Amino acid sequence: MTDREDLVAALLNDSTNVFVLSGAGISTESGIPDFRGPQGLFTRFPEASRMFELDAYVGDPEVRRAAWRVRSQPDMWNAEPNAGHEAVARWEGAGRAVTVATQNIDGLHIRAGSSEVLELHGTFWESQCLSCEERRPIAETLDRVRAGDEDPMCLRCGGILKSATVSFGQMLDPDVMAAAANAAVECDLALVIGSSLTVQPAASLCAVAADSAPLVIINAEATPYDDLAEVTISTPIGQTLTRITSRLGLGAAAR
Ligand code: NAD
Repeated sequence: MTDREDLVAALLNDSTNVFVLSGAGISTESGIPDFRGPQGLFTRFPEASRMFELDAYVGDPEVRRAAWRVRSQPDMWNAEPNAGHEAVARWEGAGRAVTVATQNIDGLHIRAGSSEVLELHGTFWESQCLSCEERRPIAETLDRVRAGDEDPMCLRCGGILKSATVSFGQMLDPDVMAAAANAAVECDLALVIGSSLTVQPAASLCAVAADSAPLVIINAEATPYDDLAEVTISTPIGQTLTRITSRLGLGAAAR
């Protein structure tokens, strides 16, 4: 236990309304690569970023076929919540509310038992039509891909299908963003966990929170918002959050 971890545990003990902004870094220990870390998808394959750009996805059938090939890989589907997600879920209760605004699309905070999760960038678990907006479990669409339909179209209107995630160039759901901004304003402690804080507008939520509450940033690499933080920690998230949580005197995980 380091002095910085002791300080974060003390801040958590004193808090009643916690805001967590999480990013891809909390899920790397579940085997899902991030985008910009040393082993990140964009670090290793810069060309992969086109799959996440709305214009390229809509305009180029080959980008869509490549995206569906990636979505059909099992890594994402087999991932389980790790010690980091579980620690965050355990902070709830005993007079402490925790709102998790996550940039992640993997659903792992919800599976770990966090009850208030705002998925800023949507979910990977559904597909959505870009024309009529019909949503279906993505498993149904992936069945079509695995049966040979390389670029499946909407069964209702024939529009282009995509995972129900927010691509670069696509609007965030204004209700979800407003709820996250409200949680950031109202919190008495904010923690950023596993984000490079380079994707807007999500990243700016930590600055909103830091206006009125202490900010803790737990991320392997420096972020553009480190100067606003009362504490920065760069050790691996799972072990770090497990040590901090062990200082909170909590019982069994609330799962
Ligand atoms: P990012 O890739 O830009 O940054 C992740 C950060 O986490 C990096 O700075 C990295 O050094 C750090 N990190 C990785 N593993 C860590 C660990 N074990 N301990 C400590 N730090 C660790 O991710 P971002 O800021 O979330 O933004 C990028 C976008 O990526 C988001 O829009 C999100 O939707 C998308 N994304 C999501 C997933 C997912 O759902 N799991 C995966 C990849 C990308």
